[in-house]
Amino acid sequence: MRKISPARNSRPFDYAQPGDRLHCGKVSIAALARRHGTPLYVYSGDQIVERLGMFENAFRGRNHLVCYAVKANSALAILKLLAGRGAGFDIVSGGELERVLASAPEAVGRVVFSGVGKTAAEIDRALETGILQFNVESEAELELLAARARRMKRRARFALRVNPDVFAETHPYISTGLREHKFGIDIRRAPEIYRRTARSKWLEAHGISLHIGSQIRSAQPFGAAVERVSRLARQLAGEGIALKTIDAGGGLGIDYHSRAFDAAEHVREYAAAIEKALGGFEGRLLLEPGRFLVAQAGALVAGVLHVKSNGKKTFVVVDAAMNDLIRPALYQAHHEIVPVRRRSGRARAVDVVGPVCETGDFFARDRKLAPLEPGDLVALLDAGAYGMAQSSNYNSRPRAAEVLVESGKARLIRRRETMADLLAVEST
Ligand SMILES: *Cc1c(COP(=O)(O)O)cnc(C)c1O
Repeated sequence: MRKISPARNSRPFDYAQPGDRLHCGKVSIAALARRHGTPLYVYSGDQIVERLGMFENAFRGRNHLVCYAVKANSALAILKLLAGRGAGFDIVSGGELERVLASAPEAVGRVVFSGVGKTAAEIDRALETGILQFNVESEAELELLAARARRMKRRARFALRVNPDVFAETHPYISTGLREHKFGIDIRRAPEIYRRTARSKWLEAHGISLHIGSQIRSAQPFGAAVERVSRLARQLAGEGIALKTIDAGGGLGIDYHSRAFDAAEHVREYAAAIEKALGGFEGRLLLEPGRFLVAQAGALVAGVLHVKSNGKKTFVVVDAAMNDLIRPALYQAHHEIVPVRRRSGRARAVDVVGPVCETGDFFARDRKLAPLEPGDLVALLDAGAYGMAQSSNYNSRPRAAEVLVESGKARLIRRRETMADLLAVEST
């Protein structure tokens, strides 16, 4: 994708004048931190809705459905917000299905179920609730699906998740579209599998799906992958197997570094590449964006506990840690860090670290930041995707609270865990 020049702040966090305090819309981050404590996740519901609108707009000429990838951020309030705007969901577990049912049961007919290891119990529950489509990742899974469908006397709509063997430039842990990856079925085997199921009473060949990876910044690999599956869909249609959906997966990336990121333009380029690749396909296009809808809407707010020097290096120890946001430790990911109260003074290179007993527990290394003191607050930006969703209780740390800001109003959507919550499920 070409570099975007307009200086548009792609984040919903900004310094309000006067006072130089970080705000999310009209809501003061410092006030939220005082009220709910830190570490604290803050999300802009307005930006999430705006991002969904960018997809709706870019694909408005086509029969399509945006199925938000729940795993990026599975907060019930966010699922409800998106379902209310017409979104469907891409789930990867029975647990995520229960989250959709708990927040927006009316949207269950807009759910696609992905994942390489679905269990019989998960399949049964999804059949019973009437999801839109199973994205099947192996022949063994398709057999299991047929067996469960027969048992439940419910016809199962499936799409084969094919592996288009397209390379997408991203971190190796989140690249999924090559033959060497565990995901999907070799696209060369797919036609035979569709033919075999054509007469099945319990399986309906409903669509074809792919997902080539995450945090992909160029539109080109999406176009290449969709072109391969739409060619296959045309071939199958010629044989009398008319698929109703092409699922182009998720994976559209954001810019974690720059403020000037034109999100709408990115979606338009992505849409253009997919449109071109779809050719004359007349069915429904499914899209599974996760990160793109929620990442930049969220920040993780942390308090500075200590500033310590060991001769060469300065460490800013904050009260958030890798258990709250693991992306830097897991993917060497970059998150911008900004002070909640803008500070003057010369920036110097520091490491921003958490209290967890792991050298990998850092948020930034040799990052130039204006001087910070104990008691200050900082915000880690672009933390709305794969932040809270990947959090854990490592080091017996209760998980953070979450706040959603919508049209100038903030509300707590998840209270901070207590030690009593953690201990309740254990016995000695
Ligand atoms: C993770 C995942 C997505 C979402 O990926 P993003 O990079 O967050 O857009 C979509 N579809 C499937 C099958 C996934 O596994």
